[in-house]
Amino acid sequence: MMTTVQTPELWAAALHQAATLLQHSRCPLLISHPRPDGDTVGSALALRLALIRLGKAPQLACAHPLPEALACLPGAAAYQNVAPADEDLDLVVAVDLSDLNRSGGIYRETWRGKFPLLVIDHHETNEHFGDVNLVDPAAVATALPMTALIDVLGVPLDDAMATCLLAAVLTDTRGLRTANTSPEVLHFVGRLIEAGGDYAGVMEKTLDSVPYQQMRAWGVALGNLRLDGALAWTTFPLAEKLSLGIADHDDLDLGNLISRVAEAQVMATFLEMRDGTVKVSLRSRPGYNVAPIAKALGGGGHQQAAGCSIPGTLDDAQARVLPLLRTALLKAAG
Ligand code: AMP
Ligand code: MN
Ligand code: MN
Repeated sequence: MMTTVQTPELWAAALHQAATLLQHSRCPLLISHPRPDGDTVGSALALRLALIRLGKAPQLACAHPLPEALACLPGAAAYQNVAPADEDLDLVVAVDLSDLNRSGGIYRETWRGKFPLLVIDHHETNEHFGDVNLVDPAAVATALPMTALIDVLGVPLDDAMATCLLAAVLTDTRGLRTANTSPEVLHFVGRLIEAGGDYAGVMEKTLDSVPYQQMRAWGVALGNLRLDGALAWTTFPLAEKLSLGIADHDDLDLGNLISRVAEAQVMATFLEMRDGTVKVSLRSRPGYNVAPIAKALGGGGHQQAAGCSIPGTLDDAQARVLPLLRTALLKAAG
């Protein structure tokens, strides 16, 4: 796992280098990760608005369409699901991506060495794959390093930018409920509200709104819920997705749903995908770290929320992942 000692000097240097890359760019491409969440979208949208203020022509790409809750954020209509032609970009910015696979096919390998790559992220599993890496694993959301960068660029936060950043920080902290929600995070949210961000609107549209079909799908997932000691997990077969008309890429936010099982310390969801893989979401309570398990399985994430994709059937994926989680529980208990 990548561990970097972050001194204030190194951080200031990374901020300066990131700002310089953006200042020298005319048409940067901002990439959000697939199954886009509030952080990858909100942070990218805020940067886009800041860059427009600086007279630039930023572009946005994400391999998957935005969920309805995020599609109404300022500027969200500008997202494309393919990369622009090479003539139309001069810098690539990865937003909330821990590795380049997380671009979902948007990033082209031919861009290596041709266009500088700027990484803005907060995953502890981040591979520092950019030419400049603004990566703060202590941050609750990419929105925080993003805002530090916007400050260095000298663009004041307006209400639209603040709303986008609120969507980022409020969703990645599940409504300011995660263990890493510090006084600094609450000050940051206060600053965004002062700048005119729509706190109540973001809460209502993101955390307090669940599409009807998704809620019906939760019924299926809750029906499949299992508990073994301090391990809770559920499965979601492809056939159920098809019969409910759920898009293949939609993860139904199941990880966050079952993270609330009171008896469990570690939780997992297994979603069968059309391409013959299983999408695994891992969650844990403080004291248990699921990031290394996801990383060992080819994925990544944070201590309390991580994920990966595993080829094979639902049974194959459970046979591979559940023993690792049981071992992690035993190790932490011992
Ligand atoms: P999820 O379970 O999809 O909600 O993801 C939880 C966390 O793990 C997020 O921070 C994701 O960025 C990260 N994550 C999920 N799947 C992967 C993956 N296949 N590769 C790297 N990181 C992942
Ligand atoms: Mn994310
Ligand atoms: Mn994030």
